Amino acid sequence: MPESQAPRTTFRRVLLKISGEALMGDAGYGLHPPTVERIAREVQSVHEMGVEVCMVIGGGNIFRGLAGSAQGMERTTADYMGMLATVMNALAMQSALEKLGVFTRVISAIRMDEVAEPYIRRRAVRHLEKKRVCIFAAGTGNPYFTTDTAATLRANEMNCEAIFKGTKVDGVYDKDPIKHADATRYDQVSYDEVLQKHLNVMDASAIALARDNNLPIIVFSLDEPGGLSGILAGNGAYTTVHGYG
Ligand code: UDP
Repeated sequence: MPESQAPRTTFRRVLLKISGEALMGDAGYGLHPPTVERIAREVQSVHEMGVEVCMVIGGGNIFRGLAGSAQGMERTTADYMGMLATVMNALAMQSALEKLGVFTRVISAIRMDEVAEPYIRRRAVRHLEKKRVCIFAAGTGNPYFTTDTAATLRANEMNCEAIFKGTKVDGVYDKDPIKHADATRYDQVSYDEVLQKHLNVMDASAIALARDNNLPIIVFSLDEPGGLSGILAGNGAYTTVHGYG
C-alpha cells in the first residue's frame, strides 16, 4: 500500500517486542514459517505508515538460559545459548520482511560479522532514518538479562516513543484472562502498579528501566490481524503502561 493511503499515526519511531514463542505458532518449538510471515506483514503495514520500526525478538521458542541452568548447565553459558537463539529468530524475521520488500538490518549485540552487523548506535539510527527496519539480536549481549530488558534498552537508545509489546491477549489484566473468565483489562496502568502487583507485562528490570526513562509500554494482541497498525492509528484494545499516578 502506498504511504499516502496507509492509516495515519502520530508515532514516528517505535520498538516492537515479541517473544520467541510468538514465532512458533502451535508448533510447540522452533519456528512456524506462516506465523513468522503473518507477523512480518503486521510490521510491513506499520512500515508503510511511515513509522520507523525497531524490533527485538526473544529466543524462548528455542532456548532459555534459566531452563538450561535448571538442567545443570552453567548459567552464563546457557544465557549465551539463549542469546544465540534470538539471532536465529531475527534472521527468520529478516528473511520474511525482505520477501515482502521491506529493507532490514539485523544488528547483533554479540559480534558475528558474517551474520549480522555489530551494534553501533549511530549506525542503527541512520538505518532507521533510511526507513530500514532494525532487528536487534542477541539481547543486551550480557547474561542474566532478558530480551524485555534489551527491548527497553534499545528503545531508549534509539529514542523510540514507545515499546509495543505483542502478546497473546489484548492488554494487561488483573489476572490471567485465559484461566479466569472474570479477569479485567486495564486501559492504563502505572509502572509502579505493575511492579507492586506483579502484573504480567515484562520482567521487573525492564519495567524499572522504562519507568526511569518515562518510556510508555503498549501491550496489545499479536493475534489480531491488522492489530498493530490499528493501534498505531489509535484504534483497538490495548493497555498503556506509563508513569501516571
Ligand atoms: N538472554 C540473555 N541476555 C539478554 C537477553 C537474553 O542472557 O540480554 C538469554 C536468556 O537466557 C533468555 C534467552 O536469552 O532466557 C532468551 O530470551 P528471552 O527469555 O527474553 O526470550 P522470550 O521469552 O522473549 O522469547
